[in-house]
Order: sequence, then structure tokens, then C-alpha cells
Amino acid sequence: MSVSTAAADQSLCTPLPVLGRDVTVPLVTGGEVTYAALDYAASAPALQRVWDDVAAYAPYYGSVHRGAGYLSQLSTDLFENSRVTVAEFLGCRADDQVIFTRSTTDSLNLLAAVLPADCEVFVFETEHHASLLPWRDARVTYLNAPRTPGEAVQTLESALAGRDPYGPALVCVTGASNVTGELWPVRELAAAAHAHGARIVLDAAQLAPHHPVDIQDLDVDWVAFSGHKLYAPFGSGVLAGRADWLQASEPYLAGGGASRKVARRADGGVDVEWHDSAARHEAGSPNVIGVYSIASACKALTEAGFDSLVAREQYLIGRVRDGLAAVPEVKVLSLFGDDAPRVGVISFVVDGWNSSHFAAALSAEYGIGVRDGLFCAHPLVRTLLGSDPQSQGECGAPEAAPGEKSLNAIRVSFGAGT
Ligand code: PLP
Repeated sequence: MSVSTAAADQSLCTPLPVLGRDVTVPLVTGGEVTYAALDYAASAPALQRVWDDVAAYAPYYGSVHRGAGYLSQLSTDLFENSRVTVAEFLGCRADDQVIFTRSTTDSLNLLAAVLPADCEVFVFETEHHASLLPWRDARVTYLNAPRTPGEAVQTLESALAGRDPYGPALVCVTGASNVTGELWPVRELAAAAHAHGARIVLDAAQLAPHHPVDIQDLDVDWVAFSGHKLYAPFGSGVLAGRADWLQASEPYLAGGGASRKVARRADGGVDVEWHDSAARHEAGSPNVIGVYSIASACKALTEAGFDSLVAREQYLIGRVRDGLAAVPEVKVLSLFGDDAPRVGVISFVVDGWNSSHFAAALSAEYGIGVRDGLFCAHPLVRTLLGSDPQSQGECGAPEAAPGEKSLNAIRVSFGAGT
């Protein structure tokens, strides 16, 4: 195998310590092997640093925004300071709001719930379902899969050209594909959106763990990401960006914390004044541990420095791609071509192999954890596989005989802890 990228450069930074590095798993052939976590795109292992920060805080945690006691005050401070840390991590504008959610899916559904009346939405068919599906109650235009980043911009330009530039519109785009790892031309798409009076939300679920995401530099209106892909544990996510649409709408969830004042009316009903801060969309007792973990992960990545993390990841991408290229039966999936800039997410099929069986064999025989299927991006994977848009696919599907088109793919993904 030839190593083309930064050939075995010893000066590349070492991986960041993550949980589970030394876990051994049984092999079907007998014996045990150290587990190789290569499914970061689904959920990355938490950073040891995040775990340590949470462990140090855990004995003191208390109710956020709801208690007079010392631990409650401490937890409220940590929760609100986490908001500041995330705003700094994303380079937010002074008047942006950072809302804590459960995940990217939750963040995008929140944004879908606050769209102004008659808002048009433009989304590429290549998106992860979390970006593709939340807008179905709006007027959605699904854009065909582009074959180059330039074509993506042109496709969006043409779709936006015909619209009323004074009516509300939103473009939703991923920063890095969860199938091909390819980077999308976010800055250019944002410029196109704004030129036509539309706004843009960046699905940074796969981008934020690998690259700095600066809301002002990219000039996007909102960013969404998930803690569990950013080396924090499950259960927390972020929607950050423009406050106006968020504050003009009813809360995503109605309840305590979102309401400033609630009073019975003479006619027997209830009057409510909602908060106009991030709290408006954070009803209920928040996930303080999850939020604190996200902030800890943001700090850890910033301190490690994305330059060295990116350099190491590019080296690993080169090694994996070179290794796969050396096997004639393997076809790596790509929308924008081999030279497209990408993060450490690589999907492929192996001629003559059922992808689910292949992934199961990697686990059972080698202790390597990958994912198989259509990766919650069914239209994209079907396009890449050249399969019938109506075909079934997904895990365990009856699979191609040698020479036939595969219905599923195998995905290897890695990051700062690899
Ligand atoms: N967007 C992309 C590009 C993703 O890869 C994923 C998850 O794989 C999501 C959104 C949804 O993230 P979550 O499951 O954390 O809501």
C-alpha cells in the first residue's frame, strides 16, 4: 500500500485520548482483539477530557434556572457559560442565539417549526434525512444531486432565481456528507442564498467534528450540530444563529422555562408571555450534563487546534483510500470525484459481497466497527450506487450477486481519536 498523503509524517499530532481505546472484543475465530472504532460518523467516542470534566462536575450538578441553592446556582452558571463557549466555538455574531437541543435532528426540526408563514425551503436530495425531511409542512423544492461543487451552486442559483426575493426562504445544506465525507461549498451556497433574499442553515453534524465552523466566515444564518458526533456523550445538540425567526414564533416546546409569565384570564383561559431569549425554545429541565459536555468538547478541540487535527485526518484518509484503491473489487462512493476535499468518512461497496455481511465480518473476524446500509441518506446512496430509486436497501437487504449493483454500502469513518 502506498501512503500518498503527508507520508507517515511522525510530526503529525497524536490522536486525542478517547473512551474505549483499550476495549477488547471477542472474535468469532477465537481470542480477543482491541476494538477498532471506525464508525465516528454515527457517534464518535467521547473524549477522555470530556469525561473527566463531567466526572469532576457530576457530584455538584443541580437544577438549572430553577433553584436558589448553591449547586443549582453553580449548575446554572456552568450551563450559561457553556452557551458562551459554544458561541465562541462557532464564531457567532453578537446577536445570535445558541439554543441547546437534543441533536442535529432536533435542531433542524426546531428551525422547521419556527419558519415564517409561506416560507419556501430549498434542499438537495443528497442530504441526510435530518436535513431532508423536517421541512415537509413548508413549500419544499428538492434539488437534484449535483456532480461538482460548482454545479451545486448553479443548481441553487437557478432554483432561487425564479422566486419572489421578498418572501421568506430557507436553504438547508450539509457541510460534509455523512456518506462520502465530501465538503460542500458552503460559503458559495450562502452567498447564492443571500443574493436571492434567502437564508441558509448549515447542517454541521459531520463538519464540526473535523473542521472549524465559523458562522460569520461562512456567512450562514444558522448552524446545527450534535454533541455525540463531536466527541461528547449522547443527548445534546445545538442550533445557533439568527434570533429573529426564533423569537417571532411560538416556542418549539411549550412549558416551564420557556414562559416568562402565565396568568388565568377572566374568560377562563390562560395568557402566556414567552421568553425572548434562547429559553423560549428550551422548555423543561435541560440536559445540563450533555450541554456541559458539548462545551468541554468545543474547548478540547480548540485547544488541540484544528490545523493539526486536520493534518492527521488527511493523512489517515490518504492511507484508507490508498488501501481501498489497491483492492480491485472495491468501489469507493463519491459525488464530486476523487480529488474533492473531504473529511474522514468513506463509503464503499465490494463487488460480490453483501455489504451487511462484509461489515459483520469486519466486526466478527477483526474487531473493526463500521456501518453498513444507506446511512439515513437513501436518495444519495441510491444515486451513488446507480440503483433503482424505489429499491429497498438498508441493513440486511438481499444483496447483489457478483456483477450486480449493490443495494447497500459499507462506511468507514474516523476522527480526532483515531
Ligand atoms: N446530519 C448529518 C449530516 C448526519 O450525518 C446526521 C447523523 O448521522 C444528522 C444530521 C443527524 O444527527 P443526529 O442523529 O445526532 O440528530
